[in-house]
Order: sequence, then structure tokens, then C-alpha cells
Amino acid sequence: MKAMLHACIISTGTELLLGSTIDSNCNFLSQKLCDLGVRVIARFTVGDNREQISNAFNNALKLADLVICSGGLGPTLDDLTKEIACEVAGCQMELVEEEVKHLQEYFARRKRKMPEANLKQALFPPEAIILKNSKGTAPGMYLKKDGKVLVLLPGPPREMQAIYLQEVEALLERDFCLDDKQSASCTIKVMGPGESQVDEMLMDIINEPRGCSLALLAQDGEVHIKLTAEGENAEHSKQILREISRRIENNMDRYVFGHDEESLSGVVAKLLVNTGKRLAVAESCSGGLLAQMITELPGSSRYFWGSVTSYSNDAKVKLLGVKEETLASYGAVSPETAEEMARGILRKSGCDFSLAITGIAGPDGGTKEKPVGLVYIALAAKEDCIVKEMHFAGAREGIRILSAKTALDMLRRQLQYGGI
Ligand code: ATP
Ligand code: MG
Repeated sequence: MKAMLHACIISTGTELLLGSTIDSNCNFLSQKLCDLGVRVIARFTVGDNREQISNAFNNALKLADLVICSGGLGPTLDDLTKEIACEVAGCQMELVEEEVKHLQEYFARRKRKMPEANLKQALFPPEAIILKNSKGTAPGMYLKKDGKVLVLLPGPPREMQAIYLQEVEALLERDFCLDDKQSASCTIKVMGPGESQVDEMLMDIINEPRGCSLALLAQDGEVHIKLTAEGENAEHSKQILREISRRIENNMDRYVFGHDEESLSGVVAKLLVNTGKRLAVAESCSGGLLAQMITELPGSSRYFWGSVTSYSNDAKVKLLGVKEETLASYGAVSPETAEEMARGILRKSGCDFSLAITGIAGPDGGTKEKPVGLVYIALAAKEDCIVKEMHFAGAREGIRILSAKTALDMLRRQLQYGGI
């Protein structure tokens, strides 16, 4: 078996050291390299400072054959990465005409004059591969030198991720023998039970030694079960993974909503598209968050009618047709109101499904009978309406997120299994 390729990651940016920006680039790259079978052995975070950046490149190149750096490819004076990386690698930069043209076109399309400073984004050493940036102005760079590979990517996460996925991964697979990755991993995502409940449900699997490690990560009401199998070779690892995944999914049953990169709203979107059904939403305590989660995905207009944020009683009556008597007898936070909200928006929209949320997000407004965290979520379809009573713990933002996600999950189960 060949030795595993070792890599170092460098993140540049003073804001990362100050703690004002979370270094998500580093996490993304670590995960992707791990998936590719590359071992990340060190990560450096440095400020926008010549000496710090230079030290980081020198150290990283001593430790590893692959160095990937993000940040500092912009046009401003504090963007130094490319210049320093080339100095350390012993390369000269030249103006690349084609890149100048790209920059000029980029600015022309936006009807803006190109600042002189941007020209430095068209400087590259002739031996480098220029990595096209489809989401911004700063191209990345892939440099092979003295048996080592140096990759420079821009700082903005969207740009960095796009270049990595569209360009870098294929180049790494081309230049390194990465096919002897032994381990295999996957993530199973569940919604509903908490972390300790999942732990309990998987007890018999967790306690059985079988070359597969299992880690739980709880996040906004979801629990992610990350499995990593270490078999004798890649095929064996995958086989272990398939077997354990199958058993876990049997145990977790309808709680499983997706795998790996899938999101709850993405899964619901797919189900709506596949069944040709449309959804409308009425929100009180979640204040539009559910609509935001749904419309975050491109193409949501195909299945999403829209949402009414009916925060006041007046709005519930006037916009959704909730009865004054219902509000007076049972209150705004009640199963009766949730049901009328759902039925009201279903009627007005003419959709196949509707979801409604009403509850007490806090920190104020709770009573003994109706404490903070009490939320009613209704799902309506034609003649039927189901209302779920939830008791969420935590602060306002968490309660709002859990309300919206639980609503999505009710619809997911309805679409997947014909019942919640
Ligand atoms: P630009 O052309 O935008 O200046 P750049 O390549 O010079 O791009 P930076 O100036 O280092 O990149 O960073 C731009 C923005 O990207 C930062 O303000 C920050 O919000 C974000 N960013 C940079 N590095 C990281 C990181 N490691 N993790 C998450 N976000 C980052
Ligand atoms: Mg910059």
C-alpha cells in the first residue's frame, strides 16, 4: 500500500485571528481532503502580514507535499498571499493577458471602471495553472514545484468552495495516487429524537466492535450520525458501512430524513417536486423563518405558493380567516388556532398542503399553562388537519428554528409515508 498523502491548510486573514470571522474554509477543506483520502496533518491561521504568511508557507512546505491556502487573493494592499507564495516557491509572476481580459469583461458587465489595483489579480507565474473563479474576480492558482503542490484559493467561502470542487479536486486526483483510500464514511441524518435518545436507540450497534466508529452531532433539532469504517481495503470498508447503515436505518426508521450533504428543506423540496404538490405556509412565532428555509433553495417557486406571517391576532383574522371566537376562547397559542391558520391558508392558496405555526418563543409571554417553548404546528391537506403539540427547550432563536424544522419534518413524513 502506498503512503497516504499529507497536507497542510493555511488560512490567512487578520479577522480570523481576532475571532470576528469563523474559519469555515479550513473546515470545508479538511473534510473534503479527508473524503479524498488525504491526511491533513497541520493547519495554520495567520494574519494579513508578510512575515506571518511567509513563515506559514515555509513551515507547511517542510511538513507536507500538498499545501492549500485560502484568502488574500483580492486586489487590496493587504492581499499578499500570491506574491509571498511565489517568493517562497521561487517563481516569478508575469501579467497574463487572458486574465486581464477576463477582469476587464467582469467590470464591463457590471458597468464599472476597473481599478488599477485589480491588475495584480492577473499576475501569475508561467508554470502555474490558473483556476477560474466563476463567482468572483480573484482566480486561484495551482502550482507544482519540486515535487510539491501549492494551491491558492480566494477567501470568500462561496468562491473558495466552487473553485475547489470545480477545479482542484480533479487536479489532485490527477497528480497524486489517491486511490488507496482505505476508510469509508457517511452521515445519516435524523430529525425528531434528541442526541441521547438516538444514542439509546443505537445502543446495541454502538457497543459492538466491528471496525466502524460512530459519532453523533446534534444541530438545530437534527442529529447527524457520522460513520467511519476502517476495513482491510476500500471495498471492505464500504461493505462494513453498508451493513451498519442498514441496521441503523432499521432502528431509526422514519426519523431518518437524509444522508451526507442532504438538508431537510432540500429533501422536502424533492418530495414536493416528485409528487407535483404545492405548499403554503402561515407563521406566527417563527416570523417567516419557515418561508426563508424553503426559499433558500433555488427553484422553490415550483412548489411554494408563499407565506403569511400573521403575527398579531388581527392578522390571523383578516388574512387567514381565523375566527374571533376561537382566539377569544382558546387563545392564539392553541391547537384550535393552529388548525384554523392551516385551513385558512390552504383555502386561500388552493395548495395541496399547508403548514401553520403558533407558539411562545419567549423570553417573555409564558404562563404556567402556556410556558415558553409551547408550540402548535398544524399540517393541513384537503379535508384533513393534524396538529402537533411541541415543548421546545432553549432560547428564542432555537425555539423558532425548531418550530420551522419540525413543521418541515411533518410534511416530509406525510409525503414519504402518507402520515406523520
Ligand atoms: P477578496 O477579493 O474578497 O478580497 P480574498 O481572496 O482577498 O478575496 P480575503 O480578503 O482574505 O479574501 O477574504 C474575503 C472575505 O472572505 C473575508 O471578509 C471573510 O468574510 C471571508 N473569509 C476569508 N477567509 C475565510 C475563512 N478561512 N473562513 C471563512 N470565511 C473567510
Ligand atoms: Mg481580500
